[in-house]
Amino acid sequence: MTNDPRLTTLAASLPASVPFVGPETQERQRGAPFTARLGANENGFGPSPNAIAAMSAAAQDAWMYPDPENHDLREAIGAHHAVPPANVMIDAGIDTLLGVLVRLLIGPGDAVVTSAGAYPTFNYHVAGFGGTLHTVRYTADLEDPERLIAKAEDVGAKLIYFANPDNPMGTHHKAETVAAMISAVPPGCLLILDEAYVELAPEGTAPALNPDDPRVIRMRTFSKAYGLAGARVGYAIGQADLIMAFNKVRNHFGMTRVSQAGAIAALADQDYLHQIQSQTEAARRKLASIAKENGLIPLPSATNFVTMDCRKDGAFAKAVMNEMIARGIFLRMPGVAPLNRCIRVSCGPDIDMTAFAAALPAALAKAKEAQPA
Ligand SMILES: *Cc1c(COP(=O)(O)O)cnc(C)c1O
Repeated sequence: MTNDPRLTTLAASLPASVPFVGPETQERQRGAPFTARLGANENGFGPSPNAIAAMSAAAQDAWMYPDPENHDLREAIGAHHAVPPANVMIDAGIDTLLGVLVRLLIGPGDAVVTSAGAYPTFNYHVAGFGGTLHTVRYTADLEDPERLIAKAEDVGAKLIYFANPDNPMGTHHKAETVAAMISAVPPGCLLILDEAYVELAPEGTAPALNPDDPRVIRMRTFSKAYGLAGARVGYAIGQADLIMAFNKVRNHFGMTRVSQAGAIAALADQDYLHQIQSQTEAARRKLASIAKENGLIPLPSATNFVTMDCRKDGAFAKAVMNEMIARGIFLRMPGVAPLNRCIRVSCGPDIDMTAFAAALPAALAKAKEAQPA
């Protein structure tokens, strides 16, 4: 026997893939930093100054392990949403929570349902635990609740993934539609309602929180509206038994003290959040008008990004994205047809919106040139 690593059969079968290639990797590849970082839906307006101050203060205490129960942050989130802390689980972003949840529920061959082109990190975790992913189509650039439910019934799914508002399209369903979807979740199935962008969506997007409902687990994050993507803080709200189960497998010291302190201070500064909401709305309007000026169609957005229909195929949108990247503007695009006729551009401060507007005409012209006649 050699000393080659004896990976499990499952691990050996997995591709060495990453759900997203980071902008830092791209900067190293191109040998230059980006001028505008508009590809990861980070909040370019930055976090609350109070959160920055709290994180600086907490840095002094970084010699101590963090509270593994995240007690203070769970209390704060519980109070904010008027739910008991026993129904709140914290971890290093929604990405981590998705991984832990899939680990808890999905073993080899278990059926899982999502939409083709929806958030790839979820699919990555399902593959990692050997689940079988079933996909349904979007309908008119919206995730389709009825199709998701029907497919879950069909394949006996244990999990359905549904983001509202949606990434990568930026579209959203009303709370009543989501509530109806929750009521229709089949027995033995759990709906993951990913609400990463909900603070930036219109009133009436999130159905009422009912933490005792065993059919749904809600996921929220400090990465988007609260501007703390680099601190890695997300939370799940769900039935207490399911929330307790996370303690069986999670990384109990996965949250840092600095992140805990930053999230508590960010949550307490709702005035700053309101400021971000209006700045985001203004940036969305600006992006939409830049898109129109350049002959692209901006999709309606309930998020901190605007998805723009380039009105041709995936190869063309990819050429546009690559031309923008070559001009120092970091963007991404949906990965699956027909969504991949679009590019996706994050909201940010004026300086970034202006850099985007300045680079777009030449990038489009170059991408058109490259098109077969
Ligand atoms: C950005 C995003 C996340 C990631 O959230 P983290 O808390 O930073 O891990 C999850 N879901 C969707 C739909 C997102 O767009």
